[in-house]
Amino acid sequence: MSGVQGGKQASGRESLVQQHAVLQKRKRTRPAAFWNSGWSKVSALANPDALPSGGQDKEEEIQELDEILKFNQIALSDIDSSEAQVRVNSDSQRSGLWLLASFINHSCCPNVQRVILHDRMVVRAAQDLQAGEELVDSYVQVLQPVHRRRSELERSYRFRCNCDRCVLESELLDGQKVQALLERAAGMAGRPSADGVAEWHLVEAAETLVAAALSGAGATAWAADDKSPAQELLLASFSPLFRTLAPALQSGFAASSARLHVALRVWQRFHDVVAAVLPGSEVLCAVSSSLFCTALLLRQNPGACRQELAIALWACHQAYGGGVKVWQIWHRKLFPPAALRAAEVVWHEELARHPPASATPPLPGIDLHAMD
Ligand SMILES: [Zn+2]
Repeated sequence: MSGVQGGKQASGRESLVQQHAVLQKRKRTRPAAFWNSGWSKVSALANPDALPSGGQDKEEEIQELDEILKFNQIALSDIDSSEAQVRVNSDSQRSGLWLLASFINHSCCPNVQRVILHDRMVVRAAQDLQAGEELVDSYVQVLQPVHRRRSELERSYRFRCNCDRCVLESELLDGQKVQALLERAAGMAGRPSADGVAEWHLVEAAETLVAAALSGAGATAWAADDKSPAQELLLASFSPLFRTLAPALQSGFAASSARLHVALRVWQRFHDVVAAVLPGSEVLCAVSSSLFCTALLLRQNPGACRQELAIALWACHQAYGGGVKVWQIWHRKLFPPAALRAAEVVWHEELARHPPASATPPLPGIDLHAMD
C-alpha cells in the first residue's frame, strides 16, 4: 500500500510488536487465572481498579495498557440513515480488541470490510484482491473531506495519511470551497425547500467543482466520465452534503413529489460515492436501503422500484452474505410485506442474470430461521 505512514504503520507496527511482547511477558508473570477468560480481560485493565495493587510502576503500566487499547481497539460504525445527517458513530456495543485485526493498516479507501457479530469479527475482502496485496481498513470515518480525515488521524493515531485518495484530494480540490458548500448544506438541512431545487443546485455545485478540478489537472477524460473512480473519490469529499440533504428532502409527512424526486437523485449520487469508497460495507447497505425506501415513497409500488431494490439486495449480500433471506431479516420491520415479496422475485432474477462467482454464505451469527 502506498503512502500510509506513522501510527500503526512505521513506528506503530514496531511499537505494536513491542507492546504485544510486553503483554506476553506479563502473561507469564501473572496468575494463570488472570488470563483464563481471554483477551476480553485486557479491556478491564484500562480500569485502574482491575490492576493488581502495589508496584512502583503501576501508573506507567496503566498508561501503557491505555495506549494499547487506544490504538488497537476496533469499533464498528453505528449507522442511522433515517435522520437528517445520516449519523455514523462508533458503536460501543460492537467494539473490542482483536489481536490479528489490530495489525491491519489504515487507508481512506479500505479494501476490506469488517463485521462484528457477538464476540467474533469477520474481515472480508471488499473488492477483488491480488495475491499478496496488503489488506487495509479505515481507522476513522472516511466519508468526509481530507482535512477532517487527516485531522482525526493525527489527533487519534498520530500519523498523517498520504494514501492515494488523500493525495488526489489535497492536490486537486480547494478545501475552503469544499467546506463552504458543506456549511451551506448544513444550513439548509432544517428547512428544506418546497421543490428541492435549491438543494439540487448545491449537488451540482459540488459536481462542477470536481469536474473543474479534474479538468484543471489535465484529466479531461476523467472529468468527462462521471463514473470514473477519480470523480467518485473526489465527490466523496462532499459526503456530508449528500447525507445531510437526502434525508432532509424526504422528511415531513407531505414531502412533495418534486422534493422526493430530488431526494432520490441525491441518494443515488451518495450511493455511487459510497460504493467507490466503501464497497461491500454496512454503510453502503444502509444507504442502498434508503435509496430503495425513497423510491418506494415516490412510486408507491415495489414493482416500479426494481432497479433500486436490486441495488439494495446486492449491497446487503456483499456486506452480510446470504442473499435475499438476510436482506428480508434486516428489513422486515422497515418495509411492507409486498416489498419483501418483491425482493424475492428480484433477487432470483438477478441471480439468473448475474450469477455470483461463488455462493456467499451468511455471516456466522445471522439466524436465517428468524424469518420462519
Ligand atoms: Zn488517506
